[in-house]
Amino acid sequence: MQTSRSAELFERARQVIPGGVNSPVRAFQAVGGTPRFIARAAGPHLFDVDGNRYVDLVCSWGPMLLGHAHPEVLAAVTKVAADGTSFGAPTELEVQLAAEIVDRAPVEQVRLVNSGTEATMSVLRLARGVTGRDKILKFAGCYHGHVDSLLVAAGSGAATLAIPGSPGVTVATTEDTIVCEYNDRDAVTAAFAEHGDSIACIITEAAPGNMGVIPPAVGPDGENFNAFLARTARAHGALFISDEVMTGFRVSRSGQFGLDGVAPDLMTFGKVMGGGFPAAAFGGSAELMSNLAPAGAVYQAGTLSGNPVATTAGLTTLRLATDDVYARIDAASQRLRGEVALALNEAGVPHVIQNSGNLFSVFFTDAGIPAVPDYATAKQQHVDRFRAFFHAMLDQGVYLPPSAFEAWFLSATHDDAVLTHIVEALPRAARAAAAA
Ligand SMILES: *Cc1c(COP(=O)(O)O)cnc(C)c1O
Repeated sequence: MQTSRSAELFERARQVIPGGVNSPVRAFQAVGGTPRFIARAAGPHLFDVDGNRYVDLVCSWGPMLLGHAHPEVLAAVTKVAADGTSFGAPTELEVQLAAEIVDRAPVEQVRLVNSGTEATMSVLRLARGVTGRDKILKFAGCYHGHVDSLLVAAGSGAATLAIPGSPGVTVATTEDTIVCEYNDRDAVTAAFAEHGDSIACIITEAAPGNMGVIPPAVGPDGENFNAFLARTARAHGALFISDEVMTGFRVSRSGQFGLDGVAPDLMTFGKVMGGGFPAAAFGGSAELMSNLAPAGAVYQAGTLSGNPVATTAGLTTLRLATDDVYARIDAASQRLRGEVALALNEAGVPHVIQNSGNLFSVFFTDAGIPAVPDYATAKQQHVDRFRAFFHAMLDQGVYLPPSAFEAWFLSATHDDAVLTHIVEALPRAARAAAAA
């Protein structure tokens, strides 16, 4: 496989962009080798600048639910852009996108923003403003964007680079952040016993996908971990925030809420709802959201928030994301999970495959580990085996997320023929993992 043009561009990029990329995981640091510079994409495929074609299992880290360059999304975006791309004044499109989100998720109002990071940053300010409390509780391995106070034990990009938090994040910023292991009810109970009346909120990924996929566990009493968190927060006058930036409008029409039915106090959205453009949102009850400026005192704003181009891309994507789309992606995910397990078993590679709906990942664990319930366990996987697996897949034209700590993403365009291409590449990759 020819990669000289990508290599050349990467070298030039490193002169003018830190590390050569605008988001760390793109640099292939965890897997080594030359990051592919992408020239274009269509449906389930990426095409790099050397003319190689790949089946894409990253889908821009989630947004491309309908596949790349969907003709109807492109047509809608092109048409609306011709009428102006940003006004700094309200539009009907924003009302329509907000209404579409309110129709799907258990929220009454949303505020549109430009990135998932902005959504979680703003929702924390709102939770603190409303409760008058400072502390927040988050989970190790959950990533909520690069918000300072949340950049503690923060999964994927940070996990990949083994950065504990980050230089530049002050002690003062993070000392109000309490970190528990995911799925650890005793730790949450203990944190509330100690700090209960100063905790503003619990924030969690609805089903974590940024340390690999770790679904909320169901306890011995049948209570889902999200339900436990909601109950515990409310018992102490704190708010339960579900970050659905990754899962929202992806794992079901209504995201993780559509799977486990736990209604949070506040939610964040991003990725799919932008349809490949910068758009995100946070929302909750009208009562809570009315604390935001200009209705209330908690300040939040954005020059490009709700701009017609991103709003149209998101709205068109959501309107095309029908039950049939979710059914197809669910089926594709199920087939692929089965085939990956088959290939790894055949090659004798120990592993755990976990999913929440169609979102799934593969952990290259030691033998005898039945499940990965938390970040401490996720971190024990053999990244060298993943690295070998990743490159063998890439050589065969399958573009996996370039880190062992990431979810695999499918789109409605990953049809049987495309899945078969992936399946045929698996045995060689599994043997490469076994040999690593
Ligand atoms: C991607 C992600 C974010 C951050 O979104 P950006 O648009 O990259 O800022 C926040 N939370 C979760 C759960 C995410 O997966």
